[in-house]
Amino acid sequence: QQSLSSAFQSLGDVFSALSAAVGAADKVIELMRRRPAVEESGTLVPTTFAGKVTLQDVSFYYPARPTLRVLSGMSLVVNPGEIVALVGPSGGGKSSIVKLVERFYLPDEGRVLIDDRPVAEYDRKWLKQRVALVSQEPVLYARSIRRNILYGLEEEDGLPAAELPTQEDVEQAAGLANAHDFICALPEGYETECGEKGVQLSGGQKQRIAIARALVRRPAILLLDEATSALDADSEAVVQEALDRTMKSRTVLVIAHRLSTVQDAHRIIVVQHGQVAEQGSHDQLLEAGGVYASLVRRQLARGPSTNRLLPSASSA
Ligand code: ATP
Repeated sequence: QQSLSSAFQSLGDVFSALSAAVGAADKVIELMRRRPAVEESGTLVPTTFAGKVTLQDVSFYYPARPTLRVLSGMSLVVNPGEIVALVGPSGGGKSSIVKLVERFYLPDEGRVLIDDRPVAEYDRKWLKQRVALVSQEPVLYARSIRRNILYGLEEEDGLPAAELPTQEDVEQAAGLANAHDFICALPEGYETECGEKGVQLSGGQKQRIAIARALVRRPAILLLDEATSALDADSEAVVQEALDRTMKSRTVLVIAHRLSTVQDAHRIIVVQHGQVAEQGSHDQLLEAGGVYASLVRRQLARGPSTNRLLPSASSA
């Protein structure tokens, strides 16, 4: 009895020593992988901007999980004006690519370039205006709808007066985003307060405000995480129409869930295990009979109502 419990005791000691060692190893790995702080702004403010996106042999680990290599030798080029759809199984690394392009994180190895210059070299504020993100669950702040659309583009953000969007610009962006009419129907129109104490907006309305926020920047590069199931059918149609309009005439990297988006994209990149598994057009990839073809087959087997192609294809 005695020796058994002391055996367990020492086993426990071994485990705690082991887990401490593993924790320390994680820290060492993280320190070894030190990269420039993502908050640091570069100084580059180019006079022309085409909107090309390049990932060159990129490897990436989330700082909080230094042992999980999320992207591994990932390379891709999106040319100015090209619409590229990212598809693939859940957890494959699609969102992580988008986060690197918007410079939310910096890569551990390899380079992320915009117009052939490393993202970190650009002036942060300048880049934020040219690279806009519409995510699935947009965040609205406790301020007016107008200021939510303008977020980051106001006088107090240090922008010169000539670069501040006018009310007309805001309304035009909201119009393109299918948001102008519902905003005007609110008690205080564009001055209506959002956030917890403000007006309660539906998921589709929030999405459309987020699209207006992206559009008012007239971004050269649009990063888009298509909504999956958050919206009802009516609201989805209105949001999609706005998104389709938004994608025209700019570089677009879209995490695509809808078959129509995927089919209309100039190119489809299948991301799996942090790497490009295959790329090509819808027809080319179907013909190739690889990962994409099996994702589509699996999706079609789930039933005929397949507006969505890859609603996170989580079974991979
Ligand atoms: P989905 O289609 O489900 O959105 P995805 O292809 O976009 O998936 P990512 O979100 O890029 O995949 O995730 C890639 C890997 O990174 C996953 O293993 C995920 O668990 C991990 N991951 C994502 N975000 C973080 C984070 N903030 N910290 C640590 N690990 C993360």
